[in-house]
Amino acid sequence: MLTQIKDLASKLAPRLVEIRRHIHAHPELSGQEYQTAAFIAGVLSSSGLHVEEGVGKIGVVGELQGANDDGRVLAIRADMDALPIQERSGLEYASRISGVMHACGHDIHTTVGLGTAMVLSQIGSELGGKVKFLFQPAEEIAQGASWMVNDGVMNNVSAILGLHVFPSIPAGTIGIRYGALTAAADDLEILIFGESGHGARPHEAIDAIWIAAQVITSLQQAISRTQNPLRPVVLSIGKINGGRAPNVIADQVQLLGTVRSLHPETRTQLPNWIENIVANVCNSYGAKYQVNYQQGVPSVQNDYTLTQLLQLSAEEAWTSDRVQILPEPSLGAEDFSVYLDYAPGSMFRLGVGYKDRIINHPLHHPQFEVDESAIITGVVTLAYAAYKYWHTI
Ligand SMILES: [Zn+2]
Ligand SMILES: [Zn+2]
Repeated sequence: MLTQIKDLASKLAPRLVEIRRHIHAHPELSGQEYQTAAFIAGVLSSSGLHVEEGVGKIGVVGELQGANDDGRVLAIRADMDALPIQERSGLEYASRISGVMHACGHDIHTTVGLGTAMVLSQIGSELGGKVKFLFQPAEEIAQGASWMVNDGVMNNVSAILGLHVFPSIPAGTIGIRYGALTAAADDLEILIFGESGHGARPHEAIDAIWIAAQVITSLQQAISRTQNPLRPVVLSIGKINGGRAPNVIADQVQLLGTVRSLHPETRTQLPNWIENIVANVCNSYGAKYQVNYQQGVPSVQNDYTLTQLLQLSAEEAWTSDRVQILPEPSLGAEDFSVYLDYAPGSMFRLGVGYKDRIINHPLHHPQFEVDESAIITGVVTLAYAAYKYWHTI
């Protein structure tokens, strides 16, 4: 079966590169992926899949029914949105849309998803159940997976697989991670209310800017002294608004930040932990405060059995030296985690780096490029993992 999958994939290679370049040249921002979705629906239909459009607002679902239905449904997820970045790769198939670029490789994810659908559509008789391809919008704004889930795409799903490109791993290599792959990413707003006064007479006022500085410093110090160092928490204040004039003491400051954590248990304690620190500082100096903690996407926690399925599939397909077991998670976020509330799943890293380049630009960089040979690596790994899902689990 592996040889057959590899043959089918290599025959499809030129078509898949063409598909990828088309998507890359026509990127669309999160929540606006209408052309991309229509294009995907067309490819899936012509491969004989049952296609549903407008799922999760703009998403596309393609279903492939295996011959011996055991009732299990395996979902394969790809995201399809681009970023507000002006491409500077200089490639002939670079973005034709000013200020919009596939700089996170979602064009590759979509192409690998389509390639996997095309391959599996030709060996459908070997599948023991249904494969459901989820092409979701709006991953970069961490909304698309929720839109898809709210439309019921996970209702009958038994397991879900996904991938993300990784430029620091060479093309042809697969990165596997057991347990936590990405962090939970939550939004934080802290409002500090002081009292205005003359800049020359601070003792007659309550200086919200100085108190805000104390709050930021206290939070960073408290992470190092009161959070378990083996359970990382990163809190970054990225924006401050406050103050009216150089010689007027500020009466109000707004701090906006992001909070990243890996352990679900730690995460649930963070809102109270932050509020306590803010309260202690503000109470000490007579300021009032408000903390708004908004949970974003949870951490991606890869399921052991499905991660092993991916590892074994990749090792059989490509030999074990082309499979890296990743020692560390990322504190980036990924809304693949939203699906994992409904079924176990695993996401792997698809190496896309050029082996002969000293620098492979990182994700979200205007010169980000991928070695397209990785498309076939991704397709074969996923298609074979889908086959093995019904033959080994
Ligand atoms: Zn991204
Ligand atoms: Zn991404």
